[in-house]
Amino acid sequence: LILRPDAVVLADGSVTPGLEVCISDGRIERIRPWSSAYREEAGALLSPAFVNAHSHLEYYDLMGRFDGLPYWPWIRELTFLKPQRPLSLVQAAANEAAARNVACGVAAIGEHTDWPVSGAAMASVGLGGRLFQEVITVNEWELPTQKLEAVREKARSQGMVSGLRVHLNPHAPYTVSDDMLSELGAAGEPISIHVSETEFENQLYEAGEGPIREMYDVSGIPFEPPGLTALAHLDSLGCLHSRTQLVHACALTDEDVELVATRGATVAHCPRSNIALGSPSAPIAELRRRGVTVGLGMDSAASSGPVDMFAEMRAAMQVSDGRGDALSPEEVWLMATTDAAASIWLERDWRITEGGNPDLLLLDSQPIDRLIEKGSERSVRRLIRLGN
Ligand SMILES: [Zn+2]
Repeated sequence: LILRPDAVVLADGSVTPGLEVCISDGRIERIRPWSSAYREEAGALLSPAFVNAHSHLEYYDLMGRFDGLPYWPWIRELTFLKPQRPLSLVQAAANEAAARNVACGVAAIGEHTDWPVSGAAMASVGLGGRLFQEVITVNEWELPTQKLEAVREKARSQGMVSGLRVHLNPHAPYTVSDDMLSELGAAGEPISIHVSETEFENQLYEAGEGPIREMYDVSGIPFEPPGLTALAHLDSLGCLHSRTQLVHACALTDEDVELVATRGATVAHCPRSNIALGSPSAPIAELRRRGVTVGLGMDSAASSGPVDMFAEMRAAMQVSDGRGDALSPEEVWLMATTDAAASIWLERDWRITEGGNPDLLLLDSQPIDRLIEKGSERSVRRLIRLGN
């Protein structure tokens, strides 16, 4: 297969015209100047396909239900409504969300899942990636072993259905017991965890205060603050390592940023969700300067709205501008493609380079900044799969 688009997004995010990409056995064999005037891909830009670094397919039916709510009432409402839905509705929602991911050019996702539906939804549309089966112990504080066994069973069945890697993931520091966090951290498996989405976690672990402490008190959950930020607390439990993906990472101190870099953890940045829930602006440019791999995640439709990677990229530009530490369009494009793949440790070289084997995307041929500014799923022409 030889693709001769107008231009190609190369590994460093630069866009180079006049190249053809030769593919053989699911791998990019050569990149060279056009060898023929005949170009089936005239008018197209070739990029690695999008990767959605953080997703919850199973909340798609809740889109628009909690608009305007900040984080704490939002998560309370979500937690209340979530179990009231019939399984068939949740499966249909996940299927629809998976299809919408593919429609906007996404080939793989890092999927957080609680219900046993996401594996089948991903398989039905050929989405690659990893599944992270949620472990939450806050409501079952006294039965952690039984809880873990039930989660392992769900993980096993989703792995069977999808053929994808499934890992146990602690949902967030404050929803999982310290013992369980230590156990999952020590396993050395990939973990993906929501952390520092708001200042509430820091209030809890630094001083034993705030809404999370109040919830613990109401539920009779004993708690002693360790006097650390939420991130430093996770580190103290062995949960911060080179196979840890930190989701949100908004309320980070300068020391936290340093700690993320030192431990080699990755980050999923979900700017639309963060804006909607009133989270602090995540220090993404700082993390990137320290060498941290950051992927863009569309999170759930219950906070981010429609599945639309172009809208997510626009939000990433907006948030970094707002911090006075702007990301370039090329950086944001990498965060939506190659870096997102690396943030969930996809076992493929997700770059357009000789020897690389990313899934590929043909888009309307436009400059990257223009695609981010004006693009939508209508800008996506074709997804070309080299793997799975
Ligand atoms: Zn999430």
